[in-house]
This record gives sequence, C-alpha cells and structure tokens, in this order.
Amino acid sequence: MAALHGQQNTFYIPSSVEQEMCEHMFLSLPQEACGVMLGETAAGGIRISRFQPIRNVAPDPLHHFALDGAEWIRCIFSEPTLIGIFHSHPQSKPVPSLEDMRALPAFAGLLQMYLIGSPDPTSGLRSHMLLNGYQIESSKESQDQEQQVVPSYNLLPVPLCVT
Ligand SMILES: [Zn+2]
Repeated sequence: MAALHGQQNTFYIPSSVEQEMCEHMFLSLPQEACGVMLGETAAGGIRISRFQPIRNVAPDPLHHFALDGAEWIRCIFSEPTLIGIFHSHPQSKPVPSLEDMRALPAFAGLLQMYLIGSPDPTSGLRSHMLLNGYQIESSKESQDQEQQVVPSYNLLPVPLCVT
C-alpha cells in the first residue's frame, strides 16, 4: 500500500513489552507510572522494541507524572531510537487529560507515539491493562502575541497491534 500523507500508522508492540509496561504500572500503584518506548519507524507502522521505565518525579505522583531528567536524557541518546512515551492513569480511563495536553509541547517534538495505560476494572486479577495509543501530530500555528510561529501538537488515536 502506498504511503499517503496523513495516513494512519499502526503501532506494533511485542506482547513481552506490553507485559513489562503492565507490570511497571501495577508495581507503581497507587502512583502514576511513566516510561519511554524505543523502536523504529517502518513502512506503514511504528515498531516498539523496548520499554524503559522512568522514575516519576512529579511532586504529586498520585495524579501527575514527570520524567526524571537524567534518565530521560539518557533515553534521548540511546539505541534503538526513542519513539514514544508511556504513562498510566491509575484512577481514570486511559485517555489524554487536559494536563497531559498542556504538558505535551515539552517533549512532543522528540516523539511520535503516546501511550496511556489503566488497570482494567473488569479484570478481577488486577493484572490486566487497558492500553490506548495515540500518534503525536504537529502542526505549525502562528501565535498572535509576537507573531512567533510555534508548533502545536495533537494526539490522534491509532490502532495497537500486540504481536
Ligand atoms: Zn495522563
């Protein structure tokens, strides 16, 4: 299939990596968990090859996440390529919050993928994760204040393919 502009990607996640994210989320409860995905962009999709947990250094980790600076910097320069960010919503659905959208410009320029996980409330075992994937899309938007052009970012839901 030919690549079209604006074509929706699929995110491919090995089940072992999804399991690592899931375990990290449950181990971090009741706090929000966070981390990054490393991988590569391929034709028609993005393939994750590794999940790297990162310490949540938010002052209020029950309701927010902030990546530990030193660990984040190490990931920027790591192999394979930094490709996305993961965090969890322990108490709510795995959809981007207003706070998430506000924090997005701080790192979105380096990433293509945004994942949010939540404990599955229908799973009695407390071991299953609901996982949503979003593609980070940038659009140039002019600001009226000083006529500066700054990028703004959107999160587009994309299908996850756990392999
Ligand atoms: Zn969030």
